[in-house]
Amino acid sequence: MRAVVIREHGGPEVLRLEELPDPVPGGAEALVRVRACALNHLDLWTRQGLPGRPVAFPHVLGNDIAGEIAGLASPIEGLAPGQRVMLSPGTSCGRCAACLSGEDNSCRSYRVLGYQVQGGYAELVRCPAANVIPIPDHVGFEEAAAFPLVFLTAWRMLVTRARVRQGEDVLVWAAGSGVGMAAVQIAKLHGARVIATAGSDAKVELAWRLGADEVLNHSTADVVAEVRRLTDKKGVDVVIEHVGEATWERSILCMAHRGRLVTCGATTGPRGVTELRHLFSKQLTLFGSYMGSKADLLEAASHFFAGRLRTVVHAVLPLAEARRAHEMMEASEHFGKIVLRV
Ligand SMILES: [Zn+2]
Repeated sequence: MRAVVIREHGGPEVLRLEELPDPVPGGAEALVRVRACALNHLDLWTRQGLPGRPVAFPHVLGNDIAGEIAGLASPIEGLAPGQRVMLSPGTSCGRCAACLSGEDNSCRSYRVLGYQVQGGYAELVRCPAANVIPIPDHVGFEEAAAFPLVFLTAWRMLVTRARVRQGEDVLVWAAGSGVGMAAVQIAKLHGARVIATAGSDAKVELAWRLGADEVLNHSTADVVAEVRRLTDKKGVDVVIEHVGEATWERSILCMAHRGRLVTCGATTGPRGVTELRHLFSKQLTLFGSYMGSKADLLEAASHFFAGRLRTVVHAVLPLAEARRAHEMMEASEHFGKIVLRV
C-alpha cells in the first residue's frame, strides 16, 4: 500500500510517501480502505517527537479516519466489507474496570491511532472492530474524517466533565481550531450562550456563522475586559481551554464564581499562571480532559448524523501532499479541519 511515513522526528520534510506492506488484521480486527484522514495537532507533536513517548519507526500518522471496510479477520455482527465507516481513534483492552465502566480513555492500555499505533496516512489501516462506526450515506468521507477526535474531545470537555447547562455562559478560545469549532456547536446544542474568540477578522466572521453568540478577536481585544462587559461583570460559567500558556491566566480571570475550566491541551506551552486566591475565593473548579470515551463519541455522532453538529473542512489535499498539509496547519491560517484525500 502507499503510505506517508516518518522514519525520524523533525519538521514537515520528514513526511515521505512510500510503499509499505499491507496491514493484516487479526482476532476481532477490521481492515479499512482509507478514503480520508484529517489532521490534528497531535500529528504535529508525534512528528516532532514528544519527550518520553518513543515512536516505533517507520510510523504512519493520522488519528481521524473514514473509509470502507476492506475485510474482517472474523465475522462481526453488523459489519460487512464495503460498508462506509469512520473510526473511533482510541483503542483499549475492553476488559479492565475502566473499559467496562465506559471510561475506556482511562484504560492503562489506551492507545490512539496514528500516535501509539499505525494511523490513516495510508491506503489501508487495521483497527479493532469495536472502533468501527458505520456512517450514513449522506455523510461524505471528508466530513466524517473531520469529526471524531475533535468532537469526541469537545463533547467530553463540555458534557461529561463540565456538565454544561442551559443558559450558562461558555468561553471558547480559538473557535477556528478543531476543538474550538466543535465546542462552539456543542455548547449551543446544550442551550448555552457562547462567547468565542478567533485570531483574525476573517475567523471572527466564520465563528459567527458557526453559531457563537459573541465573538472576540483575541489578537486585538482585551478578552478579560470584554468577557466582564458581556456578562455584566459575572464572568463565564465554563471556559474551554486548549491553548495553554498564552491564554491560561486570562482564562482564570474570565471565570465566574463557581466557574469550571476544562483543559485538553497546551498548544502554546505547558505552564499557566494561576492566582490561587482566585481559585479558592471564587470556588473555581479545574478539569483536565483527555480524548473521550467511545460513548462520548457515539453520543456526539448521533447529533452529527442527524445534522445538528457539522464539521468544518478548511482544505482537502491529496495524501501525497501531507507535507504541505502540515505546513498549512503550522501556519495557523486555517479555520476548521485540514483533510487528506486517500
Ligand atoms: Zn481497559
